[in-house]
Amino acid sequence: TPATLPPLLQALNPEQLAAVTLGPEPALILAGAGSGKTKVLTTRIAWLLSTGQLSPAGVLAVTFTNKAAKEMLTRLGALLPLNVRGMWIGTFHGLCHRMLRAHCKLLNLPATFQILDMQDQLSAIKRLHKQLALDEERFKPKELQWFINACKEEGQRAHQVPVRDADQRHKVEFYRLYEEQCQREGVLDFGELLLRSYELLRDHDPVREHYQRRFRHILVDEFQDTNKLQYAWLKLLAGRMEGGRFVPAGNAVLAVGDDDQSIYAFRGARVGNMADFVREFGVRQQIKLEQNYRSQAHILEAANRLIEHNQGRLGKNLRTDQGCGEPLRVYEAPSDYAEANWVVDEVRQLIGRDGLPAHEVALLYRSNAQSRVLETALFNAGLPYRVYGGLRFFERAEIKHALAYLRLIDNPHDDTSLLRVVNFPPRGIGARSIEALQAAAASAGCSLHDAVSAVPGKAGSHLAAFVALLDVLREGSQGQPLRQIVALVLQHSGLLAHYRAERDGSERVENLEELLNAAESFVLQQGFGRDAVALPLDETAAAEARAAASDSGFEEPSGETLSPLQAFLSHAALEAGDNQAQSGQDAVQLMTVHAAKGLEFDAVFITGLEEGLFPHDNSSASPQALEEERRLMYVAITRARQRLYLSHAQTRMLHGQTRYHPRSRFVDELPAQCLQWLSPKPGSGLGAAGLGKAAVGLQPAWGRSALVSEAPSRAAADATHGLRAGMQVFHPKFGQGQVLAVEGRGDDARAQVSFTRHGSKWLALAVAKLTPL
Ligand code: ATP
Ligand code: MG
Repeated sequence: TPATLPPLLQALNPEQLAAVTLGPEPALILAGAGSGKTKVLTTRIAWLLSTGQLSPAGVLAVTFTNKAAKEMLTRLGALLPLNVRGMWIGTFHGLCHRMLRAHCKLLNLPATFQILDMQDQLSAIKRLHKQLALDEERFKPKELQWFINACKEEGQRAHQVPVRDADQRHKVEFYRLYEEQCQREGVLDFGELLLRSYELLRDHDPVREHYQRRFRHILVDEFQDTNKLQYAWLKLLAGRMEGGRFVPAGNAVLAVGDDDQSIYAFRGARVGNMADFVREFGVRQQIKLEQNYRSQAHILEAANRLIEHNQGRLGKNLRTDQGCGEPLRVYEAPSDYAEANWVVDEVRQLIGRDGLPAHEVALLYRSNAQSRVLETALFNAGLPYRVYGGLRFFERAEIKHALAYLRLIDNPHDDTSLLRVVNFPPRGIGARSIEALQAAAASAGCSLHDAVSAVPGKAGSHLAAFVALLDVLREGSQGQPLRQIVALVLQHSGLLAHYRAERDGSERVENLEELLNAAESFVLQQGFGRDAVALPLDETAAAEARAAASDSGFEEPSGETLSPLQAFLSHAALEAGDNQAQSGQDAVQLMTVHAAKGLEFDAVFITGLEEGLFPHDNSSASPQALEEERRLMYVAITRARQRLYLSHAQTRMLHGQTRYHPRSRFVDELPAQCLQWLSPKPGSGLGAAGLGKAAVGLQPAWGRSALVSEAPSRAAADATHGLRAGMQVFHPKFGQGQVLAVEGRGDDARAQVSFTRHGSKWLALAVAKLTPL
C-alpha cells in the first residue's frame, strides 16, 4: 500500500511505480506528453541510488537539450542529497565530449582540442572553400556544411560515403579535406564529438567493455529524437555488433519517448529507432502511461484531436483528472504588431490580475525571426523577458573574439580562431598579408601560426608581433586562475580598449566584463575555489569507476586533469550560454517550439499561427514534413498547464517584406468546443480544407480586414494588377503556376498561385513580379 512505500515513490501512479521499480532489464516507455516520462526517469535513478542498487558512477542518463539535462540534475538533486555533478548525466554532445577528453591519447587527439560550434564550423568551411577556389554557385558553403553534418549523423567518414555523381564526388572530397583540416588544427565540430566517441567504442574493445561494465543503467529521455548515430552509440554502450547483428551485454537500458513529439526528422532523427530498440534489445517491458498530469482537459483535448490528423501513429491515449479549465483563446490580429500588443496586454493581466510569476508565462513561435516584434512590445511595456536560443551569450561577436584569444593560448594551431583575431582589434594585417600567410601554411602543410616566420617583409613583421602577443598571453596565464587569465586577455589583446573607444561600444564592453563573471561563476560551479588552477576531469565518479574496474585489467584514464581554461572553453562551445546577465530575474520566457520540448508553463501563447509560418513554408513539399509540423504544434499545445492562447496576424513583416498569410490549418483542426474566439470567427479558414474552396472563389478570411476594406481609388483592372483566378502566370523564382484566387486591391492586392514546382503560395502583387502567360 502507498503508506508503506518510501516517500520517493508515494506520488507515483501504479504504471509509473512499475516503471520506476523495474528490474535491471531493457525497457521502453512510450507515452504522451505530460504523462510523467521524465519524472519516471529521474525517480528511477533516485530509487536505484537510494536503495543501494547502484552507485552514482554506474548511471548514464542522456537527453537532448542543455536545459533538459539541467532540469534532470535539479530534479535529482531535489530527490536525493547527492553531489550530482560528477554523474554522467547530460546531452549526447556533452557526454561524448567527456569521453573523448578521457581518451584523447588513444585517439591521437591533442589534449588541448577545442570544439567548433556551428558558426565556427561554417567559417572553417568557407576558408577551405576559398582555398580550393570552388565554384560558389555550385557548392555553397552552407550546403557543404549540411552535407558534412548529415554524413556524420549517418556515421559515415568521407571514404564511406557512396558516390553517385560528379557533384557528389566533389562534396565527398571536400569532406575529406575538411576532416584533415580539423585534425591539423585540433578542432572537433559537434557531429565529430559523437562520431569519434562512437568509433572509440567500436574500435577499442577494452574501452567499450569497461564502460559497459561501468554503466549498468543507461537511461535515455526523448528517445524518439535520436538519430542513427546516437542510437548506434547507445548500442555500443550496451553491447557489440557481431556480423551486422547486435548482441546486447545485459545493461539495463531504459528508453523513454513519444512518437507524437518527434520533431527532428529534418535533422535525421529516426522514430524507427523505437521499434529497432524493442527488437534488437529483446525488450519485454513496454510500459504505457496514459494519465496526463500537466494540462487541463480543454488543452489536452485540443492536443489529442489535433494529432489525430496524422497517419501512422503508434497510438496512445491521454486522459486527465483535472477539470476542463478555461477554453483556448484564439485571436486574429490585423498585423504582427497588433498581435504582439495583444499578447503583452494578456501577459500583463496574467501577471498583474492573476498573480502568475512571469517565468510561468511562455511565448512560443515557430522561427527565431518572429521574436523581435514580441521583444519590442514587451520592452515598451516594461515587462522583463528572457529569450532562449537566438544569439546567445557565447555567440556574440565580442565574446567570440575574446574566446578566440583564449583558445589560442591553449592551442595556437586553431586556425579559425587565429583568423578571427589576427587583425582584431585592427593591427595593420590586411587581406594580402593573410593570403600570404595562408599560402605559406598551405605549402609547408602547417598551421598558420607556424607559418608566420615564412612570410617576408612588413606583413611578416606585423604577423610576428601578433604571435609575440600570443606568447605573452600564454606566459602571463601560466599558473593563474581562470578569472585572471580572462582579465589578462581582455586587457592585452586590446579588445576592451577597442570597444571602449567605439561610439556604440558600451554594451559590448559590458558583455566582455560579464565574461569575467561567467568565468568566475563557472569555476565556482565546478565546486573548486576561485583560485583553482586544475580541475580533476571526473573526480569521485571516476575514482569509483577505477576501483570497480581495477580487477578487469582496464584502467579508465584518470591522471588527466583539465585546466579550468580548457573546461571553460568547452563549456562555452557546448552550452552557448543563455544570456548570463538576464539569468535569475523573474522574466517572461520566449523561445521556439523546438526549444520548449520537455518544458511546462502555467500559461502558453502560440503566436504566428499562419500558413507558411506554422506550418512552415518548406513543409508544403511533402506530407511527412507537414506531419512533422503538426507534431511540433502538438508539442507546443502540450506545454501549457492552465491557459493556452493562440494567435495569428493578417499581415506580417518578415525578412523585410509584408506578407499575407491565411490562418494556420492547425487552428481549424482543433475542436470548436475547446475554443473561444476573441475576434469574430472568420467564415472559412484557408487551412488545408480551405485551399480548394479558395480556388472556386469563396470569400477568404481577411475579407473583413480593415487594411483591405478601404476601397482603392484606382481602376478595377489596375487594382488586381491584371490578374484573375484561373490565369497562367510566371514568377522569376517559382516559375510557372496558376492563379487560384485574387483578393484585396491596389497595394494590398495578393494572389494565391499554385506553382507547378513549388506548390501553393500567397504573393503580394505590389512586390511579386508575376507575368501573365
Ligand atoms: P513531455 O512529453 O512533455 O516531456 P513528460 O511525460 O516527460 O512530458 P513530466 O514532465 O515528467 O512529463 O511530467 C509532467 C508533469 O506532471 C510534471 O509537472 C510532473 O511533476 C507531473 N507529474 C508526473 N507524474 C505525476 C504524479 N504521479 N502525480 C503528480 N504529478 C505528476
Ligand atoms: Mg519529458
